[in-house]
Amino acid sequence: MKLSQRITQLTGGGSDGWDVFYRARRMMSEGHPITELTIGEHDIRTDQAILDAMDLSARQGNTGYAIVPGNDLLRDTVAARVQARTGVPTSRNNVLITPGGQSALFAAHVAVCDPGDVGLYLDPYYATYPGTIRGAGATARAVQTWAADAFQPRAEDIDAAADGAVSLLINTPNNPTGVVYSRQTLKGIAEVCRKRDLWLISDEVYDTQVWDGVHISPRALPGMSDRTLVVGSMSKSHAMTGSRCGWVVGPEEVIAHLINLATHTTYGVPGFIQDAASFALNAGTDFEEEIAAPFRRRRALAVEILSAQNTIGLVPAQGAMYLMLDIRATGLSGEAFANALLDTHEIAVMPGESFGKAAAGHIRVAMTIEDERFAAALKTICDFAASLADSAAAE
Ligand code: PLP
Repeated sequence: MKLSQRITQLTGGGSDGWDVFYRARRMMSEGHPITELTIGEHDIRTDQAILDAMDLSARQGNTGYAIVPGNDLLRDTVAARVQARTGVPTSRNNVLITPGGQSALFAAHVAVCDPGDVGLYLDPYYATYPGTIRGAGATARAVQTWAADAFQPRAEDIDAAADGAVSLLINTPNNPTGVVYSRQTLKGIAEVCRKRDLWLISDEVYDTQVWDGVHISPRALPGMSDRTLVVGSMSKSHAMTGSRCGWVVGPEEVIAHLINLATHTTYGVPGFIQDAASFALNAGTDFEEEIAAPFRRRRALAVEILSAQNTIGLVPAQGAMYLMLDIRATGLSGEAFANALLDTHEIAVMPGESFGKAAAGHIRVAMTIEDERFAAALKTICDFAASLADSAAAE
């Protein structure tokens, strides 16, 4: 039987640079003591107090169908949080609760893209982006960003790619680069969106993990609140990846349509998960800082370790759970370096090429293991890169 092109061509085919990841997983299952620095998941579990709130809610009976847009308490809590952080008036009618940020990304694209429309995204990119845009029926078109600009997107590159486009997907703080977009970058992006009449889909799931500078939500920029859909999530800010709870914030009319989409797709998020999310969001910023603290510490360790060598370049590590390391001085591609690192030192990292073309010659290191092991692994990576660079120079 024939399957739809939408589903068979979702991932776009071709080599995706994830071979090293699957190889590392295989080696782990064979008993190799792999140091795993690939995936963006906390090394702590969801806090006991959040689990208690979840348990209490479930035991009080919140195990039936929940109200589709999200319950009033959580929608109000998200709206108040967004308004407090951005100054943009936001009510529950601007908020749809979704099963995680990923589902919110899909819903946002379905809301604004028709089949045949172009959805823009920036390279390097979070792995699911092009498939999410294709899943919504649109054509995914990458816009290159440049290592020389520390991967801050150039407005003129977006403008040059915008023919036929209806939307632009951005992510700050950024996965995979760890870069936080500056006000100037975001002003440039906003200008192009207004000029080219683009929807801006702003993925802000790492907004509580900022080490340097400030996170600016582009929805708060002049003329942007009517054309911006913000994607948020409990996954990263509250170590609730498995709970699948996120949201879209946008204009009321869009949210009204997205409630229809949710009614015909997800049918909402379990009530006990929503109650746990409300509890977590009301637990205060100290709690969020505690969850972000291990990454803040490891990022400081990384800056110290990397500043003591000169083979590897560190892309400004301003936010999120990752370091993007420039290993071009070794003469290897990111993929070749990651494979060699896995074989020689049993350390698994992601090649930059897994995230598109723009981060070729880089590796992404997730800061997701305990500090001492993390520092030791990073030193090994530095020494390994230096020895490769020496051999390359001697040739
Ligand atoms: N956006 C980015 C940039 C991510 O890195 C992730 C997860 O790693 C997500 C969205 C999806 O997160 P979730 O669906 O867990 O909210």
